Amino acid sequence: MKEPAKIKKPRGKARVVAGKCVACGARCQSACPVDCVEMTDAGEPLIDAAKCIGCLKCVKACPAEAVEMFFTPEELKILAALAGEGGEELDEEELERRRKIAPYRGVWVFIEQNDGEPARVSWELTGAGRGLADSLGVELSAVIIGSGVGHLAQEAFSYGADNAYLIDQEVFRQYRTEPYLEAMCYLVGKYQPEVVLMGATGMGRDLSGAVATRVRTGLTADCTGLGIDDKRNLMQTRPAFGGNIMATIMCDRFRPQMATVRPHVMPLPDRNSAATGQVIMESFSIAESSIFTRVLEVITDRSGKDSVDVAGAEFIVSGGRGLMAKENFAILEELAEELGAVVGGSRSAVDAGWLPQDRQVGQTGKTVRPKIYIACGISGAIQHLVGMQDSDVVIAINRDAEAPIFEVATFGIVGDLFQVVPALTTRIRELKQGR
Ligand code: FAD
Repeated sequence: MKEPAKIKKPRGKARVVAGKCVACGARCQSACPVDCVEMTDAGEPLIDAAKCIGCLKCVKACPAEAVEMFFTPEELKILAALAGEGGEELDEEELERRRKIAPYRGVWVFIEQNDGEPARVSWELTGAGRGLADSLGVELSAVIIGSGVGHLAQEAFSYGADNAYLIDQEVFRQYRTEPYLEAMCYLVGKYQPEVVLMGATGMGRDLSGAVATRVRTGLTADCTGLGIDDKRNLMQTRPAFGGNIMATIMCDRFRPQMATVRPHVMPLPDRNSAATGQVIMESFSIAESSIFTRVLEVITDRSGKDSVDVAGAEFIVSGGRGLMAKENFAILEELAEELGAVVGGSRSAVDAGWLPQDRQVGQTGKTVRPKIYIACGISGAIQHLVGMQDSDVVIAINRDAEAPIFEVATFGIVGDLFQVVPALTTRIRELKQGR
């Protein structure tokens, strides 16, 4: 169907308002990009209306409101008509852009997997994606790329996906940027989703950046909140300026809108193993010989030393600068042992060398969502809070009753942690022994 002809918004012409010029020094003349302003001996402008392109620069540059825009009666009529229609100026470029993004429909979640083992964040995003798809009234699709990964489609349905795009080829067995990028771009080009979500993991960060660059769209990393506005745009909320503000970022001019979300930021949705969906099998492949990288060996870093997973822990006892010294973390270890918890900490504790970096909770550490988070001697800076505030129960122990951590705490204990923590440990031991 032919698009109805659009009327261009008249720009008008600049003209001088008599008696207002203050001879400021030819600011209007310097601002004009088309040389249509001449200065009189008195330092006042003469504007050549035939040359004026209505760019408004001279109007903005004038400190005395001595330049204004002039419209013919016909132009004024057009402006009034446009104002009635919402006043939108739709030039060819804008129309073309809108035509391009209009066909994009649907919410996609990239299902990250390693040797067929899915990353939990993928299901968390499937839950978040379900809400977005429902708000938009579109389908939620899982995108599964790998080798021997067909079983993940059913799992995606059980977490809420309506259908799954499946590329199952040997060349995709191990993650490599290049083939995954080609596969994702192929799917995006063919099916045109409006939203694509990926985990803010090593793989997701690598792939999302590459895809967004290739398809020339925006990407918001490490979102902590996702929503849909009244114009179907994805509202992507994330900490900005060192975590001191939460910014909501939009990508309203390009599609798809891409976002990554860290593990444990979104809740894991309920599983319905009876759910079904449609698998869309894609035969896309890429010749091994055309890929620049080879995976020679996979070395997991779980062998040996510290393999504590703070991000996945159900109970966390966390310590901050209030612990005063590395050896004092022993009292947290004791409490953690009684609770079956892991010990985490604030960045101050990590920076002081009291804990390894992988135990850090917060904006530049892990995002956690345990059943119980016990914050000991942690003030509750925003950068710490964004990493733990979605815990089911937060127990804060701090001797400063004004500490911000109490604002997110379910239970707060104002007191000296060196007394409170051992007392808690002793009481839990007693309860366990039935005393
Ligand atoms: P403090 O703020 O010094 O608080 C110590 C608390 O212990 C105080 O409230 C005090 O009242 C209490 N206390 C002292 N002695 C006792 C006692 N005996 N008994 C009870 N309470 C006691 N921080 C993070 O944690 N994680 C991050 O990922 C992170 N990322 C950051 C990223 C950026 C870009 C920036 C700028 C900062 C980041 N920070 C992060 C640092 C953050 O701003 C804070 O500096 C840090 O969280 C403070 O750690 P803290 O609460 O342990 O120390």
